[in-house]
Amino acid sequence: MLLNDKIAVITGGAGLNGLGYATARQMAAHGARVVILDLARAEPAAAAARLGEGHLGLVADVTDKDACAQAAAAVLKAFGRIDILVNNAGITQPVKTLEITGGDYDRILDVNLRGTLYMSQAVLPAMAERKQGSVICISSVSAQRGGGIFGGPHYSAAKAGVLGLARAMAREFGVQGIRINCITPGLIETDITQGKLTPDKKAEIAETIPLARLGRADDVAGACVFLASDLAAYCTGITLDVNGGMLIH
Ligand code: NAD
Repeated sequence: MLLNDKIAVITGGAGLNGLGYATARQMAAHGARVVILDLARAEPAAAAARLGEGHLGLVADVTDKDACAQAAAAVLKAFGRIDILVNNAGITQPVKTLEITGGDYDRILDVNLRGTLYMSQAVLPAMAERKQGSVICISSVSAQRGGGIFGGPHYSAAKAGVLGLARAMAREFGVQGIRINCITPGLIETDITQGKLTPDKKAEIAETIPLARLGRADDVAGACVFLASDLAAYCTGITLDVNGGMLIH
């Protein structure tokens, strides 16, 4: 088991079809104790209970700095340490540049980018104290190729911001034994597209992908387990593409 007795915090992990929950499942299978953070409506406690005994689910909106700090404090109280943080909470919106309102911009940037900063700020001091930790930030192929298939330009900007933030944090915290890396998923079948991709459209997209299929949540979860584990002990500041070859660069 790659993550025996590690304490892993995963934001936005309660959606049973999402990347976060798949990561929670795989990390638990590798021996980690998992804390799922999510909005109240996503019922994080119920999602954590589905993982089995010894896991925890807490309500935390990552756009709220106090809520992030309170969640980290609750994890430290319950388990005494935090070894892994997966900054996975994210939202998207399929609009074009000229349609983006100020409110849209705030919402998309706040969850994807501000949330990554706030939650990292909440756990880094405790990781630094123990001189170890792994932070994984979920960006997107959309940051690299200037738009994915679904998200608008503000989403690309937010996810490109995540890449910059993670790399800068990796430089700052490496000396304290903390590794900080990004994953850039391609198009993965989850609830984020809210049923807006028809079977025909999916087949059309699959034809353009070298591995000839859309991604599965477990494809990304496996990459998270790798980056969280000692197998990735000398990896920091990297961007790991999990996109089936959609972008080869
Ligand atoms: P999803 O919609 O299934 O999961 C997102 C989760 O984030 C949900 O559980 C939601 O409740 C939670 N969330 C939303 N706002 C939050 C907030 N303010 N605080 C805490 N939690 C919040 O989507 P997914 O496809 O599993 O996406 C997971 C991550 O992967 C996101 O960051 C997304 O941008 C990224 N991503 C997804 C794809 C894809 O194709 N599915 C591709 C690239 C990147």
